[in-house]
Amino acid sequence: MLPEILGLASRTLAADAYALWRRDDADDSWTVAAHSGLPDEYVASATAAIRGAPAAISLDEPIVAEDISAADWLSPSHREAHAAAGTRSMLVTGLRYGDRVLGTLAFYYREPRTFTEAEKGSASLLANLAAAAIGTAELYEAQRRLADDQRFVAEASELLASSLEYETTLANLATLAVPHFADWCAIDMVEQDGSIGRLAVAHVDPAKIRWAGELAEKYPPDPDAAYGVPNVVRTRRPELFPEIPEELLREAAGDTPELYELLSELGLKSSLCVPLVARDRVLGAITFVSAESGRRYSQADLATAQDLARRAATAVDNALLFREAQAARREAQESLAVVDAMFTATPIGLAFMDTDHRFVRVNQALATINGVTVEEHFGRSLREVLGDRRAAEIEPYHRQVLETGKPILDLPVQGETAAAPGEKRNWLVSYYPVRDASGNTIGIGVLISDVTEREEARAAAEAATERLRILAEASQQLASTLDYKTTLANIAQLLVPRFADWCAVDIVTDDGTFRRLAVVHKDPSKAEWGEKSKRLYSSDPNEPEGTGRVVRTGEAVLYPTITDELLEASTQNREHYEVLKQLGIESAMVVPLTASGRRLGALMLVSADADRPYTEDDLEFAKHLARRAAVAVDNARLYRAAEQRARAALVVEHVGDGVMLLDRAGVVRLWNPAAEHITGLAVADAVGQPAQELFGSWDAIASLSQLGQARPVTQAVDVSGRELWLSITGVGFQGGSVYAFRDLTSERAIETLRSDFVSTVSHELRTPLAAIYGAALTLRREDVPLGEPQRAGLLEVIASESDRLARIVNDILWVSRLESGGMHSRIEQCDGVELARSVVDTARHYVPPSITLGFSAPKRAPRVAADADKLRQVLTNLVDNAVKYSPDGGKVDVEIAVAGDWLRFSVSDEGLGVPPAEHRRIFEKFYRLDPDLTRGVGGTGLGLYISRELLERMGGRIWVESGGHGGSIFIVELPVGD
Ligand code: ADP
Repeated sequence: MLPEILGLASRTLAADAYALWRRDDADDSWTVAAHSGLPDEYVASATAAIRGAPAAISLDEPIVAEDISAADWLSPSHREAHAAAGTRSMLVTGLRYGDRVLGTLAFYYREPRTFTEAEKGSASLLANLAAAAIGTAELYEAQRRLADDQRFVAEASELLASSLEYETTLANLATLAVPHFADWCAIDMVEQDGSIGRLAVAHVDPAKIRWAGELAEKYPPDPDAAYGVPNVVRTRRPELFPEIPEELLREAAGDTPELYELLSELGLKSSLCVPLVARDRVLGAITFVSAESGRRYSQADLATAQDLARRAATAVDNALLFREAQAARREAQESLAVVDAMFTATPIGLAFMDTDHRFVRVNQALATINGVTVEEHFGRSLREVLGDRRAAEIEPYHRQVLETGKPILDLPVQGETAAAPGEKRNWLVSYYPVRDASGNTIGIGVLISDVTEREEARAAAEAATERLRILAEASQQLASTLDYKTTLANIAQLLVPRFADWCAVDIVTDDGTFRRLAVVHKDPSKAEWGEKSKRLYSSDPNEPEGTGRVVRTGEAVLYPTITDELLEASTQNREHYEVLKQLGIESAMVVPLTASGRRLGALMLVSADADRPYTEDDLEFAKHLARRAAVAVDNARLYRAAEQRARAALVVEHVGDGVMLLDRAGVVRLWNPAAEHITGLAVADAVGQPAQELFGSWDAIASLSQLGQARPVTQAVDVSGRELWLSITGVGFQGGSVYAFRDLTSERAIETLRSDFVSTVSHELRTPLAAIYGAALTLRREDVPLGEPQRAGLLEVIASESDRLARIVNDILWVSRLESGGMHSRIEQCDGVELARSVVDTARHYVPPSITLGFSAPKRAPRVAADADKLRQVLTNLVDNAVKYSPDGGKVDVEIAVAGDWLRFSVSDEGLGVPPAEHRRIFEKFYRLDPDLTRGVGGTGLGLYISRELLERMGGRIWVESGGHGGSIFIVELPVGD
C-alpha cells in the first residue's frame, strides 16, 4: 500500500523525491517506510539523525522548509544528510489517524522553492488520505493478528485438551506457536529437584533448532540469571521485552565475545516469557521470541501469552494429577492384588467372619484346616462348618472380641485336621476385630498359624540340647570315680527321667551270669518294684531278647513298641512279667557296655509312655553314651594300673630300706634315696656301676638272690672304705635281681656299747660287792679275833661300799628315767651361790687330805631359774669327779660368776685332765676315758651324761675346758632368774 501512496503523491504534487516516514508509537522512533528518488545514504543518515534528536515540531500543519540549509529546527546532522543528498527544500505533512501520529509524507526538491497554499493543501489532503488508508490497514492488520492469535490460542487449547501426555502436548504447542505467534518458542519445566529443564524448542528451521540446542549446551544458561526463564520461575512474573536491548545480549553473553556474536546473529528482536502456574505451583515457563518476523511484542501479546500459559499450566497440572491418580490407583490395585495373592497363597489360615459368626471370606489354608472347601464356607455359620462342639469352643472368643473390641492373640490350640486325622497339630490362633472406615466393628478376622513343625523343631532342639547336657554330665560322672560299677549306676541315675522313665544296668558276673547293678525309676514309689526286679534278675544269658541277646551279640536293640505278647515271650515267669508291668514298659532300648572288647554288661532304657516311643535317633544316642561309659571304664582300669606302678615307684622312693635293682649283668639300675643315705653313695655314682665294684664283699650278697633267701641276713659289707652292717634280702627275677637292705651299723655300735656297759656295770658292782663280801666274811669269822677298831673299820668298809653300790644303781636308774621320759624338773628361783656353798661344805667331810677345796662367789649374785635338787646333783657330781680324778691331790676350786644373763659355776681341778679330743665325748652315755681303770679310778661313765641331760632340761649348758695345771675346768651355766 505504501508504494501506492507514493505513486499517488507523485501524481498529485511534482517533487524530486518522496518519502513515507513511519513513527513507532511505542518509542516515538522514526523510520523511512517507503521512498522514491532518495539515495540510500540519506535514508540511513536521516533515520540516524532523527533518532539522535527527534524534531520537536507540531505536525498539525504541513511543515515547510523552503531552504533546508536555513531550517534551524532541523538538527545539523539532518541538514548535513540533506546537503549530501542534494535536497534543498521540502514539504512534510503529518499522517494523523485519530489522535495518533502514524508518520509523515515528505516531498523533496533539489532547488529552494516557495510552496503555495494550494500545494500545501494538496499535500495535506493527500496525507489525510494516506493516514486514513494506513490507519485502516493497521487496524485491519491488528484485527487479523488478533484473530490469528485467538485462533492460535484456540488451537493450542484444543491441543492441550487432546492428550494427557503433557510433554508431547507442550512440544506440539511450541510448534504451533511458530511462526504465527513467534519465531522461536521454548518450553522449560521445573524438575522435581527444583532445577529447570528444557522440554521443547520450536523454530521453522530445524537446523536453527539444532544450532540453538548446541549453543545452549555449550553455554548453559545461568540458573540465577536476573532475566529470562530462571527469573520468571523464581518471581512468577512474566517478562516482556518489546525490543531486546543490546545490553541484554551482552549480559547474556557475559565474558564470552563469541557468544555475543552468535546471539546477535540470531537477530532476536522481541521476547515474551510467561510462567506456567497451576494451583500455586510454578511448573515451568514458555518463552516466545521474535526474530526474522520483526514482530514486536506488545502488552496485548503478553496477555495472549499469559492466557495461553494459564491454559497450558492447567493442562499440565491435570495431566500430572491424572498421572498421580493413575499411579495411586495402579499402586492400590497392585497392593490389593498382592494382598489377595497373599490371602490366597499364605500357609496361614485366614478368615473374615461377620458379626453373626458367618464366614464371609476364607483362604485355602483355613479351608484345609477346617476340612471344608473355600466355597462351602461362604455365608455359613461356625456351627454349620465346624459342628456344635468346636463352634461352642470358639464362639466365646468371637463374642469377646466383638464385645471388647480387643484382639485375642496367639491362643495355642491343639487338634487334628480332617485331611490328616490322628496327626496331632499345634496352632496359634488370633482373633481381631475388623472395623470399617468409620470405626464400627463389622466382623472378626481369624488368623491360624500352624506351629507344629516349629514346635517339633523346638522340641528336637531342646532334646538335642538335653542330650548334650546329659553327655556333659555323664562325662563328668564318668571321670569322677574309678569304680566302674558306681559309675554305671550313676549314669543310670543321670538318664532318668530326662531320657528314660526308668533304666537298668546289668553286668556280667565272673561266672557268666548277669547281675542287675542298678534300677532307677523316675517315680520314687516304684523303688520297691525296682528292687524286686534287681532280686529277680538273674537273667539267662541265652534269653532270646533283652540284655541276654545284647550281651551275647554285642549289638544294641531297639524295641519301639513293646506289646504284651513280646513282654510275655521275653519274661521268664509270671512274676517277672508282673514286675515289668508295674515298672511300666512301652518302648525300650538295650545297649551293650563293651570295654576293650570285654562285654561288661548292658544298659536298658525304658519309656513307660506310649506317646514317647524310642526312635533310631534315641538308640544312636544311647549307643554313644554307652560307648563313652565303656571308654571311661577302660580308662579307669588303665589309670589304676598306671597308678599302681606310680605308687610302687613312690614307695621305693620313700621307703626307709635301701633298694637296689640290678640287671642281669649285675649292673645297678635303681638306687633309691634310702640306699644313698645308708651307703653315702649318690644315685649318679651308683646307677650304671656293677654292684661288685660298689660293695666290698659282694659275693656273699650275690648269693642271697640266688638262694632265693626270703629272710634277711645281717652282713658286714665294705662300701667305699666304710664298714657297714647291713641286714639284706635279695630276690632274683627274670630281668635281674632286687636287694633291700637296712643299716644296722648304729644298732651294732649300741649293741657293743651295751655289752661294754654290762661288763662295766658288772665290774663296778663287783668291786664294792667284793669289798662288802670280804668285810662281812671277816666279821663272821670266829677263828680270827677282831679288835673293836678293826671291827669298826670293816663295818665302815661295808657302809661306804654299800653307799657306792647304791650310787651306781642310782645312776643307772637316773639314766633309765631320763631316757624313758619319766623325769620331770621343777624350775624355780633358787640361790645358786648358797646351793654351791652347801655342796662344797658337804664335800669337805669326805675329801682326802691331799685335796684343798676352795669356794668363791660374788657378794651379790642373781638367783637362777633351776630345779634346786638337780642343780645340786650336777654340782656334787662335778666336785666328786674333780676329787676323784685328782688321785695325786691338789686344789679343787668352785667359783661362781655372773656372765651376762647366765650364772656361771666353774669346778676346776689339778688332776688327770681331759684331752681336748675327748671334751665332747666324755658327756656321752657310758663314755669313760679310762675304761680299763689303769689309774684305778672307777665310775660308770654316766655322771656327766646325766648332768648334761639334766642341765639341758633346765635350759642350761655344760662343757669342759683344759685347766691351767694339767687339770680340767667343768663349766655349768644356767639362766639367771627374773
Ligand atoms: P665316771 O666318773 O663314773 O666314770 P663320768 O660321766 O662322771 O663317769 O665321767 C666320765 C669320764 O670323764 C670319766 O670316766 C673320766 O674319765 C672323765 N672325767 C670326768 N671328770 C673328770 C675330771 N675332773 N678330770 C679328768 N677326767 C674326768
